[in-house]
Amino acid sequence: MLLTLTNTQPPATDLGFLLYKHPQRVQHYPLSFGTAHVFYPEADAARCTACLLVDVDPIDLVRGKATATGGGLLDQYVNDRPYAASSFLSVAIGRVFATALSGRCADHPELVNRPLPLVAHLPVVATRADEGFVPALFEPLGYRVEWQRLPLDEQFPDWGHSPYVALTLSATVTVKTLLSHLYVLLPVLDNAKHYWVGQDELEKLLRHGADWLAGHPEKARIARRYLRHQWSLAREALARLDVVEEDAPDATPPEATTGESVTASDLASITVEEAAVEAPLSLNETRIRTVIAELEAAKVQTVVDLGCGDGKLLSRLLKEQRLTRLVGLDVSVRALEIAADRLRLDRLPQRQRERIQLLHGGLTYRDARIEGFEAATAIEVIEHLDENRLAAFERVLFQCARPKWVIVTTPNVEYNVNYPFLPAGQLRHPDHRFEWTRAAFETWGQRAAATFGYGVRFAPVGTVDPAVGPPTQMAVFARDDGRGDDA
Ligand code: SAH
Repeated sequence: MLLTLTNTQPPATDLGFLLYKHPQRVQHYPLSFGTAHVFYPEADAARCTACLLVDVDPIDLVRGKATATGGGLLDQYVNDRPYAASSFLSVAIGRVFATALSGRCADHPELVNRPLPLVAHLPVVATRADEGFVPALFEPLGYRVEWQRLPLDEQFPDWGHSPYVALTLSATVTVKTLLSHLYVLLPVLDNAKHYWVGQDELEKLLRHGADWLAGHPEKARIARRYLRHQWSLAREALARLDVVEEDAPDATPPEATTGESVTASDLASITVEEAAVEAPLSLNETRIRTVIAELEAAKVQTVVDLGCGDGKLLSRLLKEQRLTRLVGLDVSVRALEIAADRLRLDRLPQRQRERIQLLHGGLTYRDARIEGFEAATAIEVIEHLDENRLAAFERVLFQCARPKWVIVTTPNVEYNVNYPFLPAGQLRHPDHRFEWTRAAFETWGQRAAATFGYGVRFAPVGTVDPAVGPPTQMAVFARDDGRGDDA
């Protein structure tokens, strides 16, 4: 299988620096399923083409762990894997162009973020999808897409079409971005993976799609196909696309200086224009800071984070030495595992370790483990509960756990008109059971407060649109007895 990348921006041989492969040399890379070769059929100042040729050895495939197509014995030896661009090519890109894919260029760092007029050509791409899927994947990313369905057999045209296309993508784009698009979308087109898909793949999808996937109109199909139709992983991917921020547990908040860098986080919840023009922080970061400020003002020392997800708020709260006890509760074991990782629970010194605990549990059943805290937070959680379970959640929270302070945030559905990628009427992500207007949220909050003996105030989170309000809305409840001043 073959991929060529052509740069026509003089000096075109900059492509060599960016790919970290010398244009004058042929280089070979052993892979578990064959060998990758990189060479340049042309390399001058005006035009430079790098070629990645992946030689898949079908015998290696059968001997190794990789199941090529999941078919019968003959199918294991005779199949399209050596010839058609697929997840094998993605793996090869990940290995051979790892430096470029991660946006590093030691010799010329200034080149990394420079968009170049690039053309990627793939003579054979496995495409198990309807005709429209090829442009639907690449056009929203800004490519001019040329593709041609290949015949099953050139000598017998009446045999019809094959599941392969010849594909050419052209755009002015950075090398890193182009590679990340191919890395994710080739297996999506193929709809088959040669290796087991698990949590690792989900993380890879989010990492390589960080700058563009959240805003892609086909993100649901991309996630499902990339993750081999493992619905729980795909659902998690889509949910996290909306909230995922930094990869590393201690990463500093992203400073968004351009639209492109802010898309690393929360494209589904923040428009590029907003990011570029006025928002130095992503919505998610704004939300976290707002909640931390409320907890600080309330001078609480103990907090339970309900529906803590992958622990982003907790990891920030852990740094606040004033807080002596932190608990995160979530129904998703996977989310808790990621949280444990983010918080480095297994490496925390004893004293820190005693301050924090993660609990597996549901929010609509009474749970003594969440009682006795000064504050509870439920950040972007209620919209994940079925509306008919909300009353149970209210009792669990306000009647049983009964903290002095409760902070709840949820999307403001009115703001959705500002998301160019969201079709009218569609919620921000698939797991949302509802999204409320400001009036609906306030009605809910007032009623809950009155029922359970709390006072409540409402505040916007994120840039307020004069017509439709803020992207996120927050309610801060204070237990009536002594306006939250004593336990
Ligand atoms: N608070 C986090 C995560 C929000 S996503 C953040 O702001 O990043 C919503 C979270 O609620 C998910 O992690 C989901 O697993 C959790 N959740 C949904 N229903 C739940 C339930 N019934 N009980 C406990 N957690 C639930």
